[in-house]
Amino acid sequence: MNAEQEIDQLRERIRAADLAYYDGDVSDLTDAQYDELFVQLRTLEAEHPKLLTDDSPTQRVGTPLPKGGSFATQEHLAPMGSLESLMQAEEVGAFVERARKLLEYDGETPLTWSCEPKLDGVSANLLYEDGVLVRGLSRGDGQSGEDLTRNLLTIRNLPTQLAGKGPFPKRIEVRGEVIMSKTGFAALQQREETTSEGTFRNARNTVAGTLKLMDPRMVKRRPLDFLAFAVGLVEGVEFGTHEQLRRCLTQWGFTVAEPAGPAADLAAILAFRDDLESRRDDLPYEMDGVVAKVNEFELQQLLGRTSRTPRWALAYKFAPRLARSRVEKIGAQVGRTGAVTPVAHLEPTELAGVTVRNASLHNWALLAERDVREGDAVEIQRAGDVIPEVVRVFVDERGPDSKPAEPPTTCPACSGPLQLEGKFLYCSNIDCQAQLVGRIVHLASRRAFDIEGLGPKQVEQLVAAELVKTVEDVFALRPKREQLLELERWGKRSTDNLFKQIDAQKALPLGRFLNGIGIRHVGETTARDLASHFGTLERLRSATTAELLGVDGVGDEVAAAILEFFSSEKNQATLASLQAEGVEPLAAVRNDDGPLAGRVFVFTGGMTTMSRDEAKERVEALGAKAVNGISKKVTDVIAGTDAGSKLAKAEKLGLRIHDEDAFHQILEQT
Ligand SMILES: [Zn+2]
Repeated sequence: MNAEQEIDQLRERIRAADLAYYDGDVSDLTDAQYDELFVQLRTLEAEHPKLLTDDSPTQRVGTPLPKGGSFATQEHLAPMGSLESLMQAEEVGAFVERARKLLEYDGETPLTWSCEPKLDGVSANLLYEDGVLVRGLSRGDGQSGEDLTRNLLTIRNLPTQLAGKGPFPKRIEVRGEVIMSKTGFAALQQREETTSEGTFRNARNTVAGTLKLMDPRMVKRRPLDFLAFAVGLVEGVEFGTHEQLRRCLTQWGFTVAEPAGPAADLAAILAFRDDLESRRDDLPYEMDGVVAKVNEFELQQLLGRTSRTPRWALAYKFAPRLARSRVEKIGAQVGRTGAVTPVAHLEPTELAGVTVRNASLHNWALLAERDVREGDAVEIQRAGDVIPEVVRVFVDERGPDSKPAEPPTTCPACSGPLQLEGKFLYCSNIDCQAQLVGRIVHLASRRAFDIEGLGPKQVEQLVAAELVKTVEDVFALRPKREQLLELERWGKRSTDNLFKQIDAQKALPLGRFLNGIGIRHVGETTARDLASHFGTLERLRSATTAELLGVDGVGDEVAAAILEFFSSEKNQATLASLQAEGVEPLAAVRNDDGPLAGRVFVFTGGMTTMSRDEAKERVEALGAKAVNGISKKVTDVIAGTDAGSKLAKAEKLGLRIHDEDAFHQILEQT
């Protein structure tokens, strides 16, 4: 196979995985395999720059803009207006009637509309030339928008080239909404890297903040989707109706908003909207109304537009979910990353079918700005299905003794000291109970300690049963076996499996260790960079600010968080206990100076003490290479149980062969 064929094949597999990922199908690739294909493709493309094309999946991951940079502004080819927003059925009636009159419809022939959800996200305008995405702009002022191409390219369901054989339009602008699904947003909050820009108020807000990030690699980690809803400039192709357009967009590989359907008259539009409103909490995306468009493009043209909005499309909004309530008390809650945020405890209030008792106030700066006080009469709003927020204070109704609310000085959960960072107060005590579940779930996750069988449900159970009170308790569960067995759903097998898993992960690469212990602002990538820069935990712990700033991706904020983490006495004690339990991050070594440098390992057959992946990681951490196939370059073959043809081949070549015990000796000697 030549390079070109290989590149084509890699691209095809990656695209198929992207598609499966988006459709919620199980891909045949694990994340690690996906990443590996990606690296292979990037390497090949680097070796053969002539074969690199704009539509390659690798081009989805750009490089960050220079610090302090900004997005360039570019003009839309066709203006990108907004829709007339209607709140009342009568207004919709008048809109529909006006369209009928302008078209001189006789009242008997139906004027068909096409209805779909009005998504609550951020609009974008994509330009494709001969089927290839060339740029993506924000809506901006409707005439021109910011060039967000590099960030938009990270969205996995956004086609970098139109699917199908073509012929494709010479140029076409595809408009749509960038959104974050409810599950995606919930997962992000769970992972919660409460950033200094404070973008996690709701899904829409988060999408807007994400698209403005200067580093596409960070954008890539946010679960964004693109749903197409219209076209702007179109050259070389014609659509008869909006429904036809939707079908065509789908064939080209776009996702379109569902549910959608035709409406023959006003009553049908109203019914579509009422039905969707009653189901909005069950639908995967946030939406704030429906859009109805005249179905025939020819009629759309005839209707034209007012100075601001088209006469052929309307947005009929859902009723706002507002209610009046009273703030009984302003409290503080601790999130999973230690962010301490204000919360308003309310007089129980009925709102859109649920009884509301608490409202979020987001952060102390916002609380001060809105000046919400205990005793205030307030208006609260539920946006989507997230907890309601206070949107208005009735200041006139305030009593004479009313006082502004004060932020707490200690953590409400553990009484630990708090640090102010940007708009947020943080408790940085690693053992803070309020953060414990989140911290352990993160610690056990795949890119950290990778402890199988220790998911959110199990962690909550262990914490609730007080079998785990600190992070390090996870590694001291064995003596509590009997108590574990008493818990629901814990059989002998799953319990012993968990112990095995935990023991197997005690020695792990430094990067995964650093990711796992949850230093604020230090995610997977930064953790890996820190590991390869400093090599050992000890060297990282004694690093100065200047040394930290010398690491890729470490700025002032990250450096400060690292110093703070290691200077905390509590955290020092935790690290000491982890060490006492046998947890030992492996020194990260460059391939050329590790104790196993120059050696090439092949693993065959099963191992009883660790997974093959882990074994590979271990030898690589010590400077060796791990490969899959037997060749003369291989220096060491590790044969586990039921080793097959590879072993025979290795024997034939006279290679050094070790069993599992001998392998452990190799590891221990280094
Ligand atoms: Zn705390």
